Amino acid sequence: MSCSSSSSSNPPCAACKFLRRKCLPGCIFCPYFPPEDPQKFSNVHKIFGASNVSKLLNEIEAHQREDAVNSLAYEAEARMKDPVYGCVGAISVLQRQVIRLQKELDATNADLMRYANANYGTNNYGLYNNNNNTTWNNNPNPQPDDDIH
Ligand SMILES: [Zn+2]
Repeated sequence: MSCSSSSSSNPPCAACKFLRRKCLPGCIFCPYFPPEDPQKFSNVHKIFGASNVSKLLNEIEAHQREDAVNSLAYEAEARMKDPVYGCVGAISVLQRQVIRLQKELDATNADLMRYANANYGTNNYGLYNNNNNTTWNNNPNPQPDDDIH
């Protein structure tokens, strides 16, 4: 990340350019709002306000700031596209999708169970039942082997 802190020839970060101020060494926005992406800061500033973002970034650990900025940018963009629901709109759509897919999965599993049971009924399961009945009903003195099972 090339911030203007090292050299005065670098352009100011997107935040400082937007706010028309000098991008000083150690600028809190500089590493996260490169001059190539002015829209990112403009969205975040419009929705959250530069001073709130600056306050938030100062309150969290340096290694978490990039993630924080990216989530703010995501939320801000969603709020610009959908002023009523913002990213909650996307979350609701995904939650409904999860519920629908869960129902679909349950129905498929139920079909699978019916299919498996139908196969057992006509083939293995019937034989197994017959063997069982034979063993228990017609053999009053089971062998020691049978007791182990
Ligand atoms: Zn700056």
